This record gives sequence, structure tokens and C-alpha cells, in this order.
Amino acid sequence: MQRFINKVALITGAGSGIGRATAVRLAAEGARLMLVDRNEDGLRQTLEQLPAGSDARSMLVDVADEAAVQDCVEQTIAAFGQLDVLCNNAGIAGGDYSTVQDQSLETWQKIIGVNLYGVMLFSKYASRQMEKQGGGAIVNTASVAGIRSGAGGNAYSASKAGVINFTMTSACDLGGLNIRVNAVCPGLVETGMTKPVFDYARANNKEAKLGARCELRRFGRPEEIAAAIAFLASDDASYITGQALAVDGGNTASLNLPG
Ligand code: NAD
Repeated sequence: MQRFINKVALITGAGSGIGRATAVRLAAEGARLMLVDRNEDGLRQTLEQLPAGSDARSMLVDVADEAAVQDCVEQTIAAFGQLDVLCNNAGIAGGDYSTVQDQSLETWQKIIGVNLYGVMLFSKYASRQMEKQGGGAIVNTASVAGIRSGAGGNAYSASKAGVINFTMTSACDLGGLNIRVNAVCPGLVETGMTKPVFDYARANNKEAKLGARCELRRFGRPEEIAAAIAFLASDDASYITGQALAVDGGNTASLNLPG
């Protein structure tokens, strides 16, 4: 499939995990890429993993910094002349599992700053360019944590629920401009973010348990999330907007009652 020939895609959080897999997938399908992260070494590794002949650049950007985001979109347009696809994928989990009674405001500000402000800021500046071009596609990486409790701390879960609602809201704002906005909600996937979970499980012989709650009885791979992102970003999804697609091995399909 070559669904992104003559298209330019900007991917945030492209220096690791799901963002890296999305970069590889979109480049394999012909996209020219602007790869964004705050991790320089991660970006370099992603560039090295792209198919030979890929046309890609990278930029160090903190997605929560409005001036940096605006500059990044401007530099993308200066470099490639267009911007057709935005993958708002950068995110942090924070590792804070405090209950609401002990929760610090600092954790909320940090996590919501990256996971939610970052999505809004890139959507703001990228959609202005997409409007000039007559349309575009935005795919936000939310999480099953935004649908159900129990998959992250309360700040992370609230931020991802916010991403799901912002996906619907911005789809309504931008639908009349022929800009589609959708989200993927991954279940558990082995990436930099979840490395401590996998390391702990392996050290304690509990790896099988990590996938046990999914109906497919396994955790996901970054490439499987990237495939769903690529679908939603492509013209194959031309009549889909405002949706949040769980890519979770059936995790959210079941109540998983004991017994
Ligand atoms: P990851 O840690 O491997 O990759 C996230 C990338 O985002 C990193 O390269 C990191 O440097 C970058 N990043 C973080 N904060 C940034 C900032 N302020 N500015 C720019 N870049 C920043 O994790 P991942 O699992 O690939 O995460 C990608 C997305 O998937 C995240 O939004 C995450 O919440 C979501 N997600 C992951 C899982 C999972 O199980 N791994 C499940 C559900 C949702």
C-alpha cells in the first residue's frame, strides 16, 4: 500500500515506541515526514530505521511549549511546502499512582501539559495549514486509560479521557474544513513508556499475566497501533471523523469479571 504518496505527515513522540513505528509505517507508504520529539537520540534512531530513500527531517520540540509548536509547524511548511497528516502521539505516564486524596497538582500540570495541551497546540497550528490546503487528517493517540479506570494514574487517565473528548470537539470544529480528527486508544504495548512494567513482570515470571486481561490473550506491538493510525490518517478512512478506536486486543470489550 502506498496511501501517503505526495503527503507530508508530522508525528510527535516519534523518537520511541508507537511514534517510531508510525514513522516507519507512513514512510513505507510513501509519506514525507517531520519527526518531533524532545529526545534527540531517539529521533536519530528513528531516522536510521526508516526505509531507504525516505524523505524525513526531525526537530527537537517540547509539545507543551506553544511558541516551539508554532515554530515547528512553520518549519515543516518551509521544508516540505505542505502538511497533510498530524499524528499527535507524544505522551508521558508519569508513574504517579496516588489516589485522589494524595494527588499533587504538580503531577496533573506536568501530565496534562504534555498529553492534552500538546495535542491541542499542534492541532491549532497544523489545522490552519490544512485549511489553506483544503483538508487534512489528524490522529491523536489516546489510551484505554481514557475509557476505563485502572490503566494508569488518575492524571494520566484524565488526560487521555480529555484527548478522546477533544478529538470529538475538534472534529466538529474542523469538519467543515474537510479536516478529519480521530483517535486511537491503545491497550498495553511494550514501549519506552511501559518498559518498567515489562521489566518487573519478566523479573518476576509474570509476563503472561500482562496479556491475560485481553480477549486476544496478549499485549500489543507498536506496529499494530501504527497500522490503525495509518488507516485513520489515510483516505481509506475518508468518511470517519470524531471517533476513538480502541486497539487493545479486546481489553475494553469485556467486563473481565472474576471466575
Ligand atoms: P514512549 O515513551 O516509548 O514514547 C513517547 C515519546 O514521546 C518519547 O520518545 C518521548 O520522548 C516523547 N515525549 C514525551 N514528552 C514529550 C514532550 N513534552 N515533547 C515532545 N516529545 C515528548 O511511549 P509510547 O508508548 O510509544 O507512547 C506513545 C503514546 O501512546 C503516548 O501518548 C502514550 O500515552 C500512548 N499509549 C501508550 C500505551 C502503551 O502501552 N505503551 C498504551 C496506551 C497509550
